Amino acid sequence: MTDAELRERALKVVPGGMYGHLNAAIFAPGYPQFFQRGEGCRQWDVDGREYIDFMCSWGPVVLGHRHPRVEEAAARQLALGDCLNGPGPIMVELAELLVDTVPSADWAMFSKNGTDATTQALMVARAATGRTKVLMAHGAYHGADPWCTPSPAGTTPNERADLVEFTYNSLESLEAAAATVEGDVAAIICTPFKHDSFEDQELVEPAFARGARALADRLGAALVIDDVRAGFRIDLRGSWEPYGVRPDLTAWSKAMANGYPIAAVTGTDALRGPAQTLYTTGSFWFSAVAMAAAKATIETLRDTDGIAAMERAGTQLREGLYAQAKSHGFVVNQTGPVTIPWLSFDGDADLSTALYWSDACLRHGVYLHPWHNWFMSAAHTEQDVARALEGTDQAFAETRTHFA
Ligand code: PMP
Repeated sequence: MTDAELRERALKVVPGGMYGHLNAAIFAPGYPQFFQRGEGCRQWDVDGREYIDFMCSWGPVVLGHRHPRVEEAAARQLALGDCLNGPGPIMVELAELLVDTVPSADWAMFSKNGTDATTQALMVARAATGRTKVLMAHGAYHGADPWCTPSPAGTTPNERADLVEFTYNSLESLEAAAATVEGDVAAIICTPFKHDSFEDQELVEPAFARGARALADRLGAALVIDDVRAGFRIDLRGSWEPYGVRPDLTAWSKAMANGYPIAAVTGTDALRGPAQTLYTTGSFWFSAVAMAAAKATIETLRDTDGIAAMERAGTQLREGLYAQAKSHGFVVNQTGPVTIPWLSFDGDADLSTALYWSDACLRHGVYLHPWHNWFMSAAHTEQDVARALEGTDQAFAETRTHFA
């Protein structure tokens, strides 16, 4: 069954054939929608085309597809049972591992998706403070529930009424936002760096991170780090730990279990009581297989220094792309941590160059994205990146010819 045939069938039985951010219909016709398999840092689409993958399934695959230690842990748990009448011992083991790994964590609660975790973190903050308002950065993505989805379709204004926006990295703007809802701030929610789609990424200013911490303390509000996208690719201890800033609550998901579905909120002792008062649950939240995969993933990242491997590969990719862009006469911006990279073309407001280049990359066996950040995995070896750079070089050459 080809990609084209599957799309045609999907159109009849799935709204739009595909919905959400994975909808490939907006791209050039050859852009794959359906995938057959993955192995290490490679994926194959249903038409049999092989790609060196720099999206890593949009973040979850951090050790490479079908990593033996993770697959073995998952299979061992699957043989015992996955969805039982209650969690397995693995839930306690995983919570202990998070508490041991993350200095701001005294407890953990589990769910399935990043949106579950951000939503649950805000519930804990509201339960703790008895307040309603949440300060969030303008344009930040915290998930797809009605309170945070970027599209208003199907939601009511009421569902967003308790959000007050500030400008990322501007302490002045954060303080001004707080002042408009004086006395009613339950939480400040913040991603560890600015990774909004369609824009160059922006690392956090350490003074902003420290200022947000101090403001939350002064207001008696919770500082929530949404580490769903960046977690386990910057610092296993939490992405603001290098700045010495510890949140009250952290939302985790994506890379936590190398592709198995799981999310978590971790929090401090002070919030344990309020967390206990919530009614929050889900039919599949306590499935043991994903928990076993999460434990194996975090232990493997720790034991093999997986983040250092991603940093090496990410640096090689960034340096290679800069050199190639220059030699083909392009000015490009590469922003964000090297483990969560992105490239934009200077002066490419309508993204036409990025769209053409990323499509050319696909044709040369390199899967990346024109308007969303990419993800490195610990499975990207020096040889893999070198092979990918051959593809990107040809893509730059074709892009130059196309726009000449
Ligand atoms: N927060 C951030 C920062 C994210 O990047 C995402 C997912 N892209 C989410 C929350 C929501 O996660 P999920 O799609 O698993 O619900």
